[in-house]
Amino acid sequence: MGEFDLIKRYFTRPTSRAALGVGDDCALLQPAPGMQLAISSDMLVEGRHFFADVDPQALGHKALAVNLSDLAACGARPLAFTLALALPQVDESWLQGFSSGLWTLAEAHGCELVGGDTTQGPLTICITVFGEVPRGQALLRSGAQVDDDIYVSGTLGDARLALDALRGKVALPPDLFERSRIRLERPEPRVALGQALRGIASAAIDISDGLGGDLQHVLHASGAGGRIDIDDAMQFIADGARIAWASGLFSYENLLQCVLAGGDDYELAFTAPASARAAVASVAEGCQTPVHRIGKVEQSRGLRIVDAQGQEITHRFSSFDHFA
Ligand code: ADP
Ligand code: MG
Repeated sequence: MGEFDLIKRYFTRPTSRAALGVGDDCALLQPAPGMQLAISSDMLVEGRHFFADVDPQALGHKALAVNLSDLAACGARPLAFTLALALPQVDESWLQGFSSGLWTLAEAHGCELVGGDTTQGPLTICITVFGEVPRGQALLRSGAQVDDDIYVSGTLGDARLALDALRGKVALPPDLFERSRIRLERPEPRVALGQALRGIASAAIDISDGLGGDLQHVLHASGAGGRIDIDDAMQFIADGARIAWASGLFSYENLLQCVLAGGDDYELAFTAPASARAAVASVAEGCQTPVHRIGKVEQSRGLRIVDAQGQEITHRFSSFDHFA
């Protein structure tokens, strides 16, 4: 199968929102009046971001999910995406699985594949997403104000737990492994929540590298610091990590690492003024996405982790060095 047959068979579908999709030199998008385009790219490289033997359907899902997560963090509505693909060879069963994972998620979010590039090479997937957001209303990293509350959506830690299991660092019973592996391989981007937080959140980011590190990006961009109340944050550990800890499979320190420095969670971390607590709660309910208050934006720079007694326990995280 040649390049053009491959594109036609697996990556071409009619578009309705984009003015022009796959097939010409450029795709054409028509943003609605008063809207800005939100654009983001994420690249997945075999061996670096995923294992060679990962289920191709899950990979198709994740490649788009991580990009949609960036749109979510900006409060943008997905419109379209491009797909640049390097493939070592034409493997139709792989392409079938990969494209079906991709299309299912794309359709769920009304995000149309409008173009891309296909070449022979080590397996690499680069997606660029385009979203739209009312002019001036995108959620940015730089908007957090001193005394704002810090929130996180959903639960944290299971993606890292699954990764540790795949790397042989922790041995998990099969059911526990499967439930955490879903979080690693099939993240659900918080697209509805991100859009609903426009006008409520003062700053936002999606958690791809770990809560602690990603939150620091927000605080730094906002010229502020902050604290995470660890006892609050630890109520939102994902089930797998909680069970692994409770059944003695790994230590409390490991659990803290999963939650604070795990990465691949694709939840949203955001800030909002205390006066917006009711609005945040109502948005969370409307989106059927749990949202938890875990800390405060503070004047003095840096991110502190404090326990219920107000004692700073930041030093207990070895990996804190690498995102200090
Ligand atoms: P060009 O040579 O003008 O860059 P290509 O021959 O690479 O165009 O691609 C032909 C058409 O197929 C273009 O519209 C391009 O956007 C699209 N395309 C190529 N690869 C992909 C892909 N992996 N997914 C979706 N569309 C693709
Ligand atoms: Mg061309």
